[in-house]
Amino acid sequence: MFDYQGNFQTAVAAVRNEGRYRVFADIERTRGNFPCATYYSGDGPREITVWCSNDYLGMGQHPDVTDAMRTAIDKVGAGAGGTRNIAGTTHFHVLLEHELAELHSKEAALLFTSGYVSNEATLSTISHILNDCVILSDELNHASMIEGIRSGRSAKLIWRHNDLEHLEELLRELPLDRPKVIAFESVYSMDGDIAPILEICDLADKYNAFTYLDEVHAVGLYGAEGGGIAQRDGVSDRIDVIEGTLGKAFGVMGGYIASTSAFVDAIRSYASGFIFTTALSPVLVAGALASVRHLRQARELRERHQERAATLKTMLGAAGLPVMPSVSHIVPLHVGDPVRCKAVTDFLLERHDIYVQPINYPTVPKGTERLRLTPSPLHTDDHIAALIDALNEAWAVLRLQRAA
Ligand SMILES: *Cc1c(COP(=O)(O)O)cnc(C)c1O
Repeated sequence: MFDYQGNFQTAVAAVRNEGRYRVFADIERTRGNFPCATYYSGDGPREITVWCSNDYLGMGQHPDVTDAMRTAIDKVGAGAGGTRNIAGTTHFHVLLEHELAELHSKEAALLFTSGYVSNEATLSTISHILNDCVILSDELNHASMIEGIRSGRSAKLIWRHNDLEHLEELLRELPLDRPKVIAFESVYSMDGDIAPILEICDLADKYNAFTYLDEVHAVGLYGAEGGGIAQRDGVSDRIDVIEGTLGKAFGVMGGYIASTSAFVDAIRSYASGFIFTTALSPVLVAGALASVRHLRQARELRERHQERAATLKTMLGAAGLPVMPSVSHIVPLHVGDPVRCKAVTDFLLERHDIYVQPINYPTVPKGTERLRLTPSPLHTDDHIAALIDALNEAWAVLRLQRAA
């Protein structure tokens, strides 16, 4: 007899042996108390400070957002009631798609149930529509992009991360009239570095390529209205497709693309991951709409966010902690080993009520295991000071490498 359960257990044992078994922290956020939350530990609930949330600005608790969601549920109920095609397109969906198109200065936008689904569905559908297409993918692209490219089954070339020379080398080898899609991100979420978007667009023009940009870690956070790095750099009109999430800086849930009407219409008509699934709840859509509208005029909040990140980086550096170079709001701290990475985060949580999730392979390459800190505008100087003290103690107790 085939041992089904045994096979599942063996698979998990392999992960455990490498020290990268994932343990989820059971937490409950308290509205109005960001970035603090209640941690349900083995011996009862405790208040902790969260240092690893992707709700970068605390918008998941903003009164504009929660009021809009409360109003929506009272008005229209819980769910969309169908796929977008069959009774699931609510007026909230229509309004949010207009708002997102405007945010990115594009003709149209299309909602998906998550950022993951938007990447997977859109990239795979591009491959099906563009005959004989080649996708040129940055080597550090997110799993959802890789999955979309894989399931699209078109030719794929991987270019070294943010390496323009390598990208050009690959483009030069391809016939000018063959369809080519350059797929990349703006802010890379684990290193906090940023793609040279302008130069990539220049290459796309020179070699007649189409550009697909994941701005998941930038929307809401960069640009005059939170339209992302493309908006900040003044190059939104040079990107063919901008993809974003409503689950990170916007604090709710869902994903989207913004592009030309022709492109959005094609994805709407062909993408399985868009067509055959129940539309996002109108309650979520109403919350996201309020969040996007709020953040379009929240310049000071974005400035405060950047200031907090800069302050944290400076203080980590001054303490001799191995903060990795980052030009964004993401602050990675190098540990370099999965077991120690987990040990540091256990220490922080158990001894100091500080929650940071260890980042291990396959999210980052082996040997580059790290803590990924995400300071928000609501992390105070006291929060930062407490974090530095706790890290200093962890580094001493666990005898970890300090900065060179
Ligand atoms: C989180 C993430 C996604 C997926 O977005 P969700 O809305 O969380 O599904 C896509 N791309 C990148 C780079 C991400 O980090």
